[in-house]
Amino acid sequence: MIAPLAAALLFASQPTPCAIELVVLGAGQDAGAPQIANNNDPAWADPERRLLATSIAFVDHERGLRYLFEATPDIREQLHLLDQIAPPAEGKDLGLDMVFLTHAHIGHYAGLMFFGFESANARGIKVAALPRMADYLASNGPWSQLVTFGNIELHPIEPSSDDGINAYSYDEAMIVVPWQVPHRDEFSETAAYTISIAGKSILFVPDVDSLDEWDKGGKPVEQWIDFYDYKFIDSTFFDDNELDRDMSAIPHPRTKGTMKRFGHLSPEQRAKVHFIHYNHSNPIRFPDSPETKMVKKDGFNVARRGDRHCLTE
Ligand SMILES: [Zn+2]
Ligand SMILES: [Zn+2]
Repeated sequence: MIAPLAAALLFASQPTPCAIELVVLGAGQDAGAPQIANNNDPAWADPERRLLATSIAFVDHERGLRYLFEATPDIREQLHLLDQIAPPAEGKDLGLDMVFLTHAHIGHYAGLMFFGFESANARGIKVAALPRMADYLASNGPWSQLVTFGNIELHPIEPSSDDGINAYSYDEAMIVVPWQVPHRDEFSETAAYTISIAGKSILFVPDVDSLDEWDKGGKPVEQWIDFYDYKFIDSTFFDDNELDRDMSAIPHPRTKGTMKRFGHLSPEQRAKVHFIHYNHSNPIRFPDSPETKMVKKDGFNVARRGDRHCLTE
């Protein structure tokens, strides 16, 4: 079997018949794997087992558009992978039409540093973020330098709520609806996104304390989950037994709990769930683990770096 990353590179060298696609650039929790000082992690010896922080991208091959969700600390490698799949259009710095951020935890925005003076010294890369997140970047170094040097251009967006949907259209190619979700909000609020592109709907909720506490239009998740063709859902931990401490007070949906909760969905709907943002301790990070087999047997999916989903089929 070809590893996902190698497969992506292999396919990249061939003409793609797909006009618009979704690419998974990383599926791990913020700190990735192997984690710092975790010397027993098998990924030190086998780079294919490394976890990059969660990020997805949308590519419109015909119009030369590329949209990135999250700027992770692994963005150098992730942008390289994206470049193999869809070369950056000429005249656009780094070939990014918009970068959408969810929140101010390291795995979700720290990669912005590579847009700055010490690295790419980019010109005016558009960055969309909820108001507190945008304000945080503009007001705190080193991020504020990206703004003052013109490396990035902030595009604050408002979250949707019971009172109304805030939908943002980009290049007449994609519509993005931001939501605010419950999470540890020390420096910024936290966003989830729903995206419409190529006639498909995508749910991207990589980091959330609980799906129950997310008041999405006042409706429980069961009432709207079927709507989405692709559902990327926070699956930081597999269950309550994987850390060496009492996990009852630690938030995040568990892989096992979400499978139980969505067990009533039709097989077709279950196959649209892609678990993402998994911790280095979550055994679904390994494609050959019994836990991954359990996920597949129950009809769900684990998002993997290098996954490519054609949206125009
Ligand atoms: Zn995170
Ligand atoms: Zn977070």
